[in-house]
Amino acid sequence: EREQAEAAAGDPVVLGDGSAVHVVANVGAATDANGLRESGADGIGLVRTEVLFADLPELPSVEQQTAAFLDLAGAVDGPVTIRTWDVGADKPLPFLAIAPEDNPFLGARGLRVFRTGPEPLVQQLQAVCRAAREAPVRVMFPMVSRPDEVDWALARLAEAGDREGGVPPGLAVGAMVEVPAAALRVAEVARRLSFVSIGTNDLTQYVMAAGRGNEAVQDLLDPADPAVLRLVALVCDEVGPGVDVAVCGDAASRPEVAARLVALGVRELSVSPPAIPLVKAALRGQ
Ligand code: PEP
Ligand code: MG
Repeated sequence: EREQAEAAAGDPVVLGDGSAVHVVANVGAATDANGLRESGADGIGLVRTEVLFADLPELPSVEQQTAAFLDLAGAVDGPVTIRTWDVGADKPLPFLAIAPEDNPFLGARGLRVFRTGPEPLVQQLQAVCRAAREAPVRVMFPMVSRPDEVDWALARLAEAGDREGGVPPGLAVGAMVEVPAAALRVAEVARRLSFVSIGTNDLTQYVMAAGRGNEAVQDLLDPADPAVLRLVALVCDEVGPGVDVAVCGDAASRPEVAARLVALGVRELSVSPPAIPLVKAALRGQ
């Protein structure tokens, strides 16, 4: 079965109704991009930049980040979605230190970290602008709760564009939907965006009130729980015309869950690279 799936992995997935589903890759370390073309990836749906640069002693320069993004773009034929620094809680970075908090998962994490000092975010967005002039690079913001946070992030992108001779026309900008509030107000959150990507890892943790990595409550941490799937359906139904819905949480890598997500209206699944052939095969069976 695996061999058959691998042989067909390069082919696009087209559903019975004629709509295409893109199966793309989650990338953390640069080595995750090795062999992506062979595995059938239709692109890269999530670059965890806080993992990509985790080994560096200091904040990478705009040049370094641009080069790393273009390297990734060279590893696939489709678009590459750069997620801005998702630092904090389970993803600490030595060069973006965060003051200790009682509840780090409910505190300064992702986009929120940069409210008090946006410069590292703006620099990263400069690198996105540079890379997007040469390759099909997209950008998305993590840990958005409210529509005004998207406005704030877009203002930072405009600031980066001002330093780089403009934001490249056609740059696709999106947000993660991984906080229940963002799912519940997705039409407003997405009104200035071209896509949203549901992060089922965090969405499940926040919906179920069960911490990621907390063994005592792992049974509750089920991304296929009806409460989580109901929010996924709501996002697909209410996101608004012309806004694509992706899922980039680990649940999308499980073929049986992937099929359910697609049935709810998701049209891009970003999965761990080894899962690509099997996820594609499962979707073709629909
Ligand atoms: C998620 O929360 O589902 C996600 C994809 O992001 P991360 O696992 O990096 O928090
Ligand atoms: Mg997350």
